[in-house]
Amino acid sequence: MNVARILFPVKVLGPGNRIGIWVCGCPRRCSGCSNPELWEQRSEYEITISKLKELIRRIAATQKVDGFTITGGEPMAQPQELAELMDYLKTVSTDILVYTGYKYDELCQHGSGFIEEILRSAAVLIDGQYIEEMNTNVILRGSENQNIIILNSEYKAYYENYLETTHNQIQNFTTVDGVVSVGIHRKDFASEIGSCINEGGKGNG
Ligand code: SF4
Repeated sequence: MNVARILFPVKVLGPGNRIGIWVCGCPRRCSGCSNPELWEQRSEYEITISKLKELIRRIAATQKVDGFTITGGEPMAQPQELAELMDYLKTVSTDILVYTGYKYDELCQHGSGFIEEILRSAAVLIDGQYIEEMNTNVILRGSENQNIIILNSEYKAYYENYLETTHNQIQNFTTVDGVVSVGIHRKDFASEIGSCINEGGKGNG
């Protein structure tokens, strides 16, 4: 699987202390995308599912993991690998939030068994392409055309409460690739901050 980064604890892309997984590769090329460095897959980001599981197992062995946020890049561009990974993630936490540039209806009509598995495993899907003109700082979404779809009804009240009581925040991580700024960024963030920092936002949409 092509994965650019795994960060913990991510506190700004869903409730609690989450493991954030940024997949690499996206065919969409949205104008104003927060993570253009993740458009092309890179050989150095290739990692086996078993190694990914081991990394996550090690984090979860010593830390309380409240959930996962999977973004990118486009997670649905690697459906077989993602479906397999999510099977494992559910053993740690079933609170799995997935960002995608596709619409939920498009995914339902896709006909891929792996996409169906992903939708069954996800607790929450945030769908739709990022449209820069519609970036109005709505909670958890890069642009207001996107939808927060709670797929696992067990999480309905939990997420509704979270969405009502929180606001967008930014969290910076120091990584081997430099500082990665995580969260929902306003649309001029990248030009204001220049190239000294990787935006590393929610990535999708
Ligand atoms: S905003 Fe999302 S869907 Fe659009 S190019 Fe960036 S990663 Fe891809």
